[in-house]
Amino acid sequence: MDSQKPSKKRIAVIPGDGIGQEVIPQALNVIRASGADVEISEFDWGADRYLRDGVTVPPDGFAMLGRDFDAILAGAFGDPRVKTNIHAKEILLGMRFKMDLYANVRPVRLLDAALCPLKGVEPKDVDFVVIRENTEGVYTDAGGVFKQGTPDEIAIQEDINTRKGVERIIRYAFEYCERHTKLDGSPRSRVLMCDKSNAMTHAGGLWQRVFKEVSGEYPQIATQHMYVDALCMQMVRDPRGFDVIVANNMFGDIITDLAAGLQGGLGMAASGNIHPGKTSMFEPVHGSAPPIAGKNVANPFGAILTAAMMLAHLGLAREAEKIDAAVLEAVRQKKTTQDVGGSLGTREAGEWVAKQVGRATVSS
Ligand code: ATP
Repeated sequence: MDSQKPSKKRIAVIPGDGIGQEVIPQALNVIRASGADVEISEFDWGADRYLRDGVTVPPDGFAMLGRDFDAILAGAFGDPRVKTNIHAKEILLGMRFKMDLYANVRPVRLLDAALCPLKGVEPKDVDFVVIRENTEGVYTDAGGVFKQGTPDEIAIQEDINTRKGVERIIRYAFEYCERHTKLDGSPRSRVLMCDKSNAMTHAGGLWQRVFKEVSGEYPQIATQHMYVDALCMQMVRDPRGFDVIVANNMFGDIITDLAAGLQGGLGMAASGNIHPGKTSMFEPVHGSAPPIAGKNVANPFGAILTAAMMLAHLGLAREAEKIDAAVLEAVRQKKTTQDVGGSLGTREAGEWVAKQVGRATVSS
């Protein structure tokens, strides 16, 4: 972190749309209960604001976030009333692209065997992290259509891979592997690159060459390669043995939804969008989930675990650990929403965790 910034951490919160507006308040209560020394400022960017005054991101919005805040906690974006989804693109992809948050970090941890759809899989068997490239690939939406609406229509979607972009995400994966341990305290030791270089030879060739080169700088870290299709099959046959996985934007997006399935579904998954040394953004992996929005049924644990990840990133490791432990306890005691086997609502599950964190804070 920048040593010039004051010690009280300043967090910008953008709950966004749908269930984002339900799960983020729960995450904020839990942060407060942890006693973390933070100052929270909320922003109303999202569909309601866009429909009201046409603003997706106010002028200077991204510069303001980078200048005035240490981290951003975002909910979810997407609303059926905004057919083009323009606001979601401008806010979420805007933060990722314009703030150059190139590393999308998605830890995949199974908190309880009951949450995993696979037979005989224990929490110790699912403890890996996916590092997804976040600023390039097909999600740049470069390309175009020609002769639209005619039988001769052509659609081109470009897959952008720069040497700089590929190198920095692969290096980030090795650095992450070097700096982090598994849940049981053992060191992380292997980086697996997943691609489709047998079919996509140009981009895949660049990823292959850079992976080989960068791995040479980390001789103590083992390397592995899998094609993305084989990796998906392996993930559901036997998730043991995965450690750090690095992938491009699209493959990372897809395999992390699959991986979220291993840990109990989208409601349990956390993520960070990181540029080391810059203001980074943290968000649950799930989207705005319109079908369940406003019903007090959304699982708030993905957002709460995301808050813990953000605090750890800000150097507030003790507070983050308390939150992680409280969520684990909630899962063990089935103080959860229905999607993961409990009977509580969003608010009730969030309040249970906040109370648990509060108790740990008082006794520490
Ligand atoms: P996006 O593309 O914006 O990431 P998506 O199309 O992947 O969104 P989500 O909005 O994440 O979809 O949700 C898909 C479905 O998953 C929801 O309709 C809901 O059934 C389930 N789901 C997602 N998040 C949660 C949650 N926090 N709690 C319970 N169920 C959830």
